[in-house]
Amino acid sequence: MIIKAFVIGHPINHSRSPLIHGNWLAQHAIAGSYEAIDVAPADLPAFFQRLRSGEFAGGNVTIPHKEAVFALCDSIDPLATTIGAVNTLVVNNGQVHGTNTDYLGFLGNLDAGAPGWDRAGRAAIVMGAGGAARAILVALKSRNIPVHLLNRTRSTADKLAREIGGAITAGALGDFNALAPGAGLVVNTTSIGMHGTRFKDLALDHLPDDALVTDIVYVPLVTPLLADARARGLRTVDGLGMLLHQAVPGFSAWFGVRPDVTPALRATIEAALEH
Ligand code: NAP
Repeated sequence: MIIKAFVIGHPINHSRSPLIHGNWLAQHAIAGSYEAIDVAPADLPAFFQRLRSGEFAGGNVTIPHKEAVFALCDSIDPLATTIGAVNTLVVNNGQVHGTNTDYLGFLGNLDAGAPGWDRAGRAAIVMGAGGAARAILVALKSRNIPVHLLNRTRSTADKLAREIGGAITAGALGDFNALAPGAGLVVNTTSIGMHGTRFKDLALDHLPDDALVTDIVYVPLVTPLLADARARGLRTVDGLGMLLHQAVPGFSAWFGVRPDVTPALRATIEAALEH
């Protein structure tokens, strides 16, 4: 029997997930499929009926369904509730379980790209307080790393810091330079960096020499922030690995094999990003 998985979204043709999972299916010679399915918001309940019938082992959820599926799942991982989005569904005995693997993707990417990054004993500066920041804050909290959460709209940072709880202090982007000397990690979760846009007046030279800089924007792969950090001699990890690592738990759950994020897989997806 062929094990089937999917990614649903609307539109869906931009998704890189079929390429990632298709590579792993071929590599492990699994009798399975992973297809992109365009599901309009009005058709989501009917799609969940298909899921309960056992047609699929599970799949991914992307824009605009990541919040709407909450009401349709039979159970939800508490961390997905904290993050406020479901990106992975697993079907078992006609029941649909919703989870969020973005925080695992973020951690897996840094663990692979900068081993020991979480042992610096210093705070992280997280820039941006949008949807993606929620998963990053949950990830850093799970490793007991204190965070300065800086955002253009200060009130959004205040609200998010309260919602996630723990050792998070909120501030404005302009606070970066004063906080930099005490930071072990800098994470960009804003959309700055897409299409070559850059932060103004970030003094990366105020960071300690062993600080790590990571960006979750991955188009372009080397954002201006990462290029500046490299020029300053700092370690960097790009955002493509987060996308690849977030796919690992879903594939494991549906197909029963834990896949690796290999340089060959990265190269394949990198080549696809250029088109
Ligand atoms: P979002 O919810 O729209 O949040 C956008 C954030 O960027 C907000 O904090 C916003 O600040 C800030 N921002 C936008 N324009 C800005 C500007 N000109 N100056 C300063 N701040 C600005 O978006 P998201 O879903 O969090 O996604 C953010 C980025 O992460 C996207 O580029 C997305 O592609 C990427 N991402 C990557 C991965 C991965 O796997 N690597 C996963 C998820 C997302 P305000 O609150 O002030 O508006």
